[in-house]
Amino acid sequence: MMKSNLLIKKGSNILKKNRIKSHIIDTELLLSSVSGRSREKLLLNSNLEMSQTQIRFFNNLIIRRALKKEPVAYLIKKKEFWSMNFNVCKDVLIPRPETEILVEKVVKYFKGRKPFILDIGTGSGCIIISLLQELKNSKGVAIDISSKALKIAIKNSRINNTFKRIKFVNTSITNFNRYKFDLIVSNPPYIARHQLKNLDVGIKKFEPKLALDGGNDGLDVLRKVIYKSRKILKNNGMLALEIGNGQYKKVSQILKLNKFKEKFLIHDYKDNIRCILSALNHY
Ligand code: GLN
Repeated sequence: MMKSNLLIKKGSNILKKNRIKSHIIDTELLLSSVSGRSREKLLLNSNLEMSQTQIRFFNNLIIRRALKKEPVAYLIKKKEFWSMNFNVCKDVLIPRPETEILVEKVVKYFKGRKPFILDIGTGSGCIIISLLQELKNSKGVAIDISSKALKIAIKNSRINNTFKRIKFVNTSITNFNRYKFDLIVSNPPYIARHQLKNLDVGIKKFEPKLALDGGNDGLDVLRKVIYKSRKILKNNGMLALEIGNGQYKKVSQILKLNKFKEKFLIHDYKDNIRCILSALNHY
């Protein structure tokens, strides 16, 4: 037996020695998962006794985090996004805080309305599930080329009570031609192929290539998304895209060529242009 506060101290020291900046919160999340108690409860109750089995599981996770740099979300199989819990596994990208700023802006824009929504490359489903959580009368379609990812998205929609309002389709965007939408959202793979090797170890070793690799200039999928959106958005419909660092100028050009008018640009916490909301205008 060992007390929870001592385990947290020991665990975070190991992570710190292995130069993991988020060593304290990582350790708390790992112990929370192993003990089946919320992080808040653990912190309020520092003298909880942990069993031998719990200690063994915990040590194992600490070692995987420290030595292999495995992301915490994959170790505990979940990630919080938009104040909801999402299941994750190696087949889906871990939802990022940057993506929450896209959700925030879209929710604000559509508040009180009920857009019919398409999420292209839904992954864990974090974007469309968060949007439907806020826009209670909306419905949508979520597509992904990965059937394994789609399974996770379906699970997440059930946990977060939006399953009945989402139709899930296992397809690429190129082969998808159904319906007309008021809103299309996408956080497509946008890393240029030659830059994949420069990503953090945790990302490049564990997150799915399919969700990251945007081809030679990183814009392959973005181009397809914009091109198809022009066909399946209603006139005056909105396209909300997440893009990579330094891609704004090129994406802006592609949008213009496809009759989109930029409405809002959103900067991320590091002040890069991270999201573009643009409206389709045929006339
Ligand atoms: N839509 C998901 C997300 O924003 C997955 C994105 C992706 O796999 N490129 O996290």
